[in-house]
Amino acid sequence: MDSWTAPHVPSLPGHGPTLRLHDTASAGLRETVEPGGERATMYVCGITPYDATHLGHAATMITFDLVHRYWLDQGLDVHYVQNVTDVDEPLFERAERDGTDWQVLGLRETALYREDMEALQVLPPRDFVGAVESIPSVGKAVAELLDKGAAYRHDSGDVYYSVQSHPGFGSESNYDRETMLRYARERGGDPDREGKRDALDPILWNAPKDGEPSWDSAAGPGRPGWHIECACIALDHLGPQIHVQGGGNDLIYPHHEMSAAHAESLSGASPFARAYVHTGMIGLDGEKMSKSLGNLVFVSKLRAEGTDPAAVRLALLAQHYREDRQWSAAALAEAELRLGRWREAVGRELAVPAGAMLTAVRERLADDLDTAGALRAVDEWAAETLAAGGEDPSAPSLARDTIGGILGIDCTR
Ligand code: ZN
Repeated sequence: MDSWTAPHVPSLPGHGPTLRLHDTASAGLRETVEPGGERATMYVCGITPYDATHLGHAATMITFDLVHRYWLDQGLDVHYVQNVTDVDEPLFERAERDGTDWQVLGLRETALYREDMEALQVLPPRDFVGAVESIPSVGKAVAELLDKGAAYRHDSGDVYYSVQSHPGFGSESNYDRETMLRYARERGGDPDREGKRDALDPILWNAPKDGEPSWDSAAGPGRPGWHIECACIALDHLGPQIHVQGGGNDLIYPHHEMSAAHAESLSGASPFARAYVHTGMIGLDGEKMSKSLGNLVFVSKLRAEGTDPAAVRLALLAQHYREDRQWSAAALAEAELRLGRWREAVGRELAVPAGAMLTAVRERLADDLDTAGALRAVDEWAAETLAAGGEDPSAPSLARDTIGGILGIDCTR
């Protein structure tokens, strides 16, 4: 499907150090790209479009946008893929509640998501791929897993993946069985269903059910499960091994564990991802932000209220991506003040030299995206410029391009 329009990304002099990110599988920092590598690949799990983009989605997409931008700044050929789960239970449930068609709902919310991403200056993925358009590929993959003995058909007709068929199962999350069972229960799995070989086995293919859409495929009629959807889209567009698999930390298990296992069973190559990178959750005023609490803050609503999307982005960058961060009116107000100072400094004709700031921003981001440190470097440059004036006529444009190109904050408005 169509993605969205890319903002301009200025090129900057020189390059920073290799980007290192925290990898969930090895529980440590990893260089994201092989030494001397010229290509960088990333798959980030996208939305299920039954509702508008909330700040949790925005924070995750902005985090991986920094990875994308940093790699581009390194001169790498970046291939970024993101999916849209445009057929799944949450869509059917919401469509039924609202008396609408699930496809109309999906198209509407995906369109709104594109607008939000564009407003937040998130670079579009090279491939933005829907689950529905991937059904032939998923059907083939499920048939292949059945042939290999890595999958089996349940009495109901549903097809399950056998976690015991894959020796590498568990190596992404490293969770013990009890934790896996708990998360499977909480996050859409069905560990208590009778007739499965292992309680942890996830669904690969849903047999046709009344009132649900169904497609013919190499695995028979039905529709894809979620984990195999992401595994197939990544394999089809990026190949058997990728550099970064990204998403919120609620995807560590079962989603990323399962999609990695599916991909490894299909391709025979492991690990599926060089680094599994996970973002923290966004809370509101000290509470967890969630659908069930009804306290989600939507990007489109903030935009409609006249909030500058650059301030939203800056507020989300103020804390480290792996932390659970709190959203509040005060955090937004602080970001607006900071943005005002940066824009004022960038708008000067003369400023203090910005080369050291560029170096510091790159160094801080290369260290597991230390955004707080990167923002401090810009603050220091802006404060010095506003206090002392400076004498360098090229500094304002270098600062503007650093802030705009690497951090994705537009200082020209
Ligand atoms: Zn996914």
